Amino acid sequence: MPEFAPKPYETRIRTQPETLRFFSAAKNASSDCVISPDGTVESASNQLMETEDFAGCFVTQGLVDLQVNGFAGVDFNQPAITAEQLDVALTEMARTGVTTCLPTVITGSHDAMIETVGNLDAAVAASRLGPLMVAGYHIEGPFLSRKDGFSGAHQSENMSVAKIELVDNLRHAATRPIRIMTVAPEVDGVVELIPQLVALGMHVAIGHSAADQSQISAAVQAGATLSTHLGNGVPLTLHRTDNPIFWQLAEDKLTAMFIPDGIHIPQAALQSMLRAKGIARTIVTTDAVSAAGLETRPGLYRLGKAEISLSEDRTVRKSGSPYLAGSSVTMDKIVRNLVAWYGFSIPQVLEMALRNPTRILSTSAEANIVGQPVKFVEWRQTPHGPQVAKTHIGPFTIQ
Ligand SMILES: [Zn+2]
Repeated sequence: MPEFAPKPYETRIRTQPETLRFFSAAKNASSDCVISPDGTVESASNQLMETEDFAGCFVTQGLVDLQVNGFAGVDFNQPAITAEQLDVALTEMARTGVTTCLPTVITGSHDAMIETVGNLDAAVAASRLGPLMVAGYHIEGPFLSRKDGFSGAHQSENMSVAKIELVDNLRHAATRPIRIMTVAPEVDGVVELIPQLVALGMHVAIGHSAADQSQISAAVQAGATLSTHLGNGVPLTLHRTDNPIFWQLAEDKLTAMFIPDGIHIPQAALQSMLRAKGIARTIVTTDAVSAAGLETRPGLYRLGKAEISLSEDRTVRKSGSPYLAGSSVTMDKIVRNLVAWYGFSIPQVLEMALRNPTRILSTSAEANIVGQPVKFVEWRQTPHGPQVAKTHIGPFTIQ
């Protein structure tokens, strides 16, 4: 493993109320708010300011990442994560503009997945930033396609038919909710399981799936609403039109999650996919692994039981295989990519990186921030696009 020494925590705690002007994605305008020393939003002015031009410095609400397997050398799928390690990962994630995330647990043996979720949840509870940043979990597996090219970095030997008992055991292992479960509709029992997952308050996503059109339609009718890293988790050689990517692109009831890192999907292909889905049905995620972060170096890292390697071009692969194993991209980089590649405005990017994922979390609407812990990012516009200058999360300011 490469030596990785994250920057020491540079957090500041407020000693007196502070007033910040921020751009509200919900109101599409700027507004002033007062933050109390304990990090709660005391009041937000209803008087909207002039339209923000996003030049110089500007403040937005924090970004939301619905799929993150690890960060800054810390693997969320390791069996014994500590609160200190989790705080390292979350502090570094905050430095990339993320204030809310769903740590993601991938396919392992059923016992290992239950243990991983339990340990992760205990680490969240004992950490400083976990209770503020972790809105629940994303479980990706084990009811996925075993087929080569669809399984990706997941352990196909641990994939299984749908079992509600496993879901119940995973739920009971954690005090925070499972918000998203990624499944493959063609796996035995999955279509029947979907309404049960929805009744438990989860969002069901299709991913690592070789489903045909009728199986995808059946999953959508049963309540699936998301596609996980659409365009990936499929073999490089597919039928050119008769494939699960096109069927999911065409299905208006599915909101697609994409990884805009320039590695998972080439820019032009992603542009076509974004046009097919539209901003309203798009969510951007990192699918980051332990190799991600502002200061990680090329070398070997872990994703659960698998060894993964980060190369010079920031691609992460399962060691010894051609398969991508998550990404090393960060959310602030995704913001810059979407602006630079496609000319999206900051409000458009915030729809995909904040508003749409916030809806999935069904946490307090971002329009109603009074009484909630503050989650703001201060950005600085540069010739290379917006860079994160500071992130405010509850009582902490991280830079
Ligand atoms: Zn995946």
